[in-house]
Amino acid sequence: MRAVRIFFFLAIIFSAIIFILPEPEGFPILEYHTITENPEPISEVYNVTPAEFAAQLDYLQEKGYTTITLQDFMRVLHGKGSLPEKPIILTFDDGYEDNYTKMLPILEAHKMKAVVYVITNEIGKPGYLTLEQIKDMQKRGIEIGSHTADHLSLKLLDDELRLHEIRDSKIFLEWSGLETIYSFSYPNGAYSPEIIEMLKQEKYLSAVTGDVGLNTLESDLYLLKRVHIRKPHFGITEFKWRLLKAKIFAKFRN
Ligand SMILES: [Zn+2]
Repeated sequence: MRAVRIFFFLAIIFSAIIFILPEPEGFPILEYHTITENPEPISEVYNVTPAEFAAQLDYLQEKGYTTITLQDFMRVLHGKGSLPEKPIILTFDDGYEDNYTKMLPILEAHKMKAVVYVITNEIGKPGYLTLEQIKDMQKRGIEIGSHTADHLSLKLLDDELRLHEIRDSKIFLEWSGLETIYSFSYPNGAYSPEIIEMLKQEKYLSAVTGDVGLNTLESDLYLLKRVHIRKPHFGITEFKWRLLKAKIFAKFRN
């Protein structure tokens, strides 16, 4: 009984705080991985099924969100155009093949776009995107970003290896015939001031973290926050809750 009372007490306090604080500024960047009916055991916790993904996009559409890419965001920052009323960025880490076979058709059916961060040394391996698929995605309006060459935690590497991971992944994609790569995703969400400095030197314009929250035109472009969309246990309610959680985090930071 006591626990129930405490729960309700906290729920009321929490709701009151959310109500009192002004609506947080900023837009969400969603972080996805695989979109498949049959995930590998290792990626199951990060998997969203195609049906769940379609329902999430339906919800975003219903709520009036417009998808943009990181490059669209950069253009606005450089004075070209303005953000839509309710922007949102959909990102996919690791470069799984189902991003092409399952995710892309659902995305296109909703007339939406996304950003896919690939691990260049995994390209063409079983379960991962091939170079042809990546090129086709780029042609169809998906922004391709780098998620390094080998998905190692950059904080644990010396400068030489770090440079290899950051520089060579970008060069590989560009020399393979893709358009310039401007966007980066930190493997395991791990970053440091030195890593950020290196990204700037290597001409990346933005980097997404695993830190939860929202983003604004004033955000640090190398510390962009995301909302991690994991395998839902409570359907679309959980998706809404994750979006709300990012808002709450953004509120408390402001
Ligand atoms: Zn990753």
